[in-house]
Amino acid sequence: MNEHVIPKTRPALSPAVERWLASERAMLIDGRWVQAQSGKTFATHDPATGDVIANVPEGDKADIDLAVKAARRAFETGPWARMTPSARGRLLHKIGDLILEHADELAELEAIDNGKPKVVAKAADVALSADMFHYMSGWATKIEGKTIPISALAAPGLDLVSATRLEPIGVVGQIIPWNFPLLMAAWKLAPALTTGCTVVLKVAEETPLSALRLGEIMLEAGLPAGVVNIVTGFGETAGAALSGHPDVDKIAFTGSTEVGRLIVRAASNDLKKVSLELGGKSPNIVLGDADLDITIPGCAASIFFNHGQCCNAGSRLFVQKNIFDRVVEGLTAEARKIKLGHGLTEDTQMGPLVSQVQYERVTGYLASGRSEGARATCGGEGLGGQGYFVPPTILVDTKPEMKVVREEIFGPVLVATPFDEVDDALIAEANNSVYGLAAGVWSRSQGKAQQIAHRLRAGTVWINCYHVFDAALPFGGYKQSGWGREMGQAVLSNYLETKAITTNLG
Ligand code: NAP
Ligand code: MG
Repeated sequence: MNEHVIPKTRPALSPAVERWLASERAMLIDGRWVQAQSGKTFATHDPATGDVIANVPEGDKADIDLAVKAARRAFETGPWARMTPSARGRLLHKIGDLILEHADELAELEAIDNGKPKVVAKAADVALSADMFHYMSGWATKIEGKTIPISALAAPGLDLVSATRLEPIGVVGQIIPWNFPLLMAAWKLAPALTTGCTVVLKVAEETPLSALRLGEIMLEAGLPAGVVNIVTGFGETAGAALSGHPDVDKIAFTGSTEVGRLIVRAASNDLKKVSLELGGKSPNIVLGDADLDITIPGCAASIFFNHGQCCNAGSRLFVQKNIFDRVVEGLTAEARKIKLGHGLTEDTQMGPLVSQVQYERVTGYLASGRSEGARATCGGEGLGGQGYFVPPTILVDTKPEMKVVREEIFGPVLVATPFDEVDDALIAEANNSVYGLAAGVWSRSQGKAQQIAHRLRAGTVWINCYHVFDAALPFGGYKQSGWGREMGQAVLSNYLETKAITTNLG
């Protein structure tokens, strides 16, 4: 039954966003705002209403070529190449400050372009984006090599000193998805910039707006021309041209595992360095002794936050048998309370999915679950009509081999399964996925929870919490969830080369 009433029209925009959208949208190449070489544009839509918000340039190979040239020039010879680490750090810090100064505007753009609630975008996407620049600004002055005592057995008699220097990898191509448009841009740009790289960023076709606004902010902060170039366009054209470009030294990608494979193939021609942050189907394990007052809202947020459009969503719930019914009832009650609506309506807790394609994909999974015998305790169908709304859904009576259990749905759909004991079979089932991005454990016993955490094949494990992200904490996947880590000190190696220099003092 559809208990959700969605308003038909978009609430009014702020004057700042209204003004910004009224001017012509362009891409950032070599410090200038330009249209595509082809002159083509495409529309970006408000997923709550289906209305066109703005037209943006349809960049393709020709524009990627210009952007890569600009990034190469900026890397080799521009003021960026001569900038001290201290000045680079201060510039990054200023970008973080300006993001906070424009927090409302950026959150509003996320709400209309992606569909997420503005209040959530401001508290999460925008705040974490600013923090990423602030955190990474500190690393600019701390990228240190080592002096290394060597024995040089084949060069006896020489008086040698050896040291390593960590150097920026060069021109980086970055390709990002639509689920956290601004935050994914920040996760990619901040570490690349703090290490001294230059960038061509290809944003997702569904959500180009906030990254373009971020480009303006970066220029306002004083970023020299060509250091960051932002291309709007499609994956098959602009994205493919970037990942196969012979003058790009490294590709950093976030998105589907399927496209991750295409990126690796394209980058393999000239053996570019590649880092990947891909999909997930994360297990979330609730032990019989868990504190249900925190576990039930925590597990609901683990799947329903951002409408389930999170690579790390806790989408496979395992609950110990003695409390299974209570947990599912509690989660169902939580899910029914979630208010769907336009992202700009103040009390909206969940907006639409990002696009018609995602709506069809997620409702296709719901139909597949139904036909295979899964039962929805809430939700279960798309709302239909205007906008791409799918209500929070919990599926029970599932079997491990069902598609809804095996595949990443990327929507507000939880599958819940009971288990008897914490034993090898439970751990094996939790790890029974091609993915290994994140996991959750809920228990009053720290010891048991830690033991389980150690056995889970995942890059992040949360105990008695979920979705805790921090610029200082590495994030990334085991298995087919990716290569390398985002954030923290760990991300720096994605953007650095190590050079060993040995000098004969004699
Ligand atoms: P996607 O196709 O992997 O898109 C991610 C980015 O890659 C976009 O910028 C996309 O451009 C670009 N791209 C697409 N094809 C490309 C190619 N051949 N070469 C280079 N770049 C290419 O993801 P999606 O279609 O937006 O979503 C599909 C599924 O991916 C979701 O349902 C979800 O399972 C997963 N996903 C995962 C994450 C994550 O955070 N790990 C995020 C989003 C989606 P376009 O924008 O033009 O497509
Ligand atoms: Mg859009």
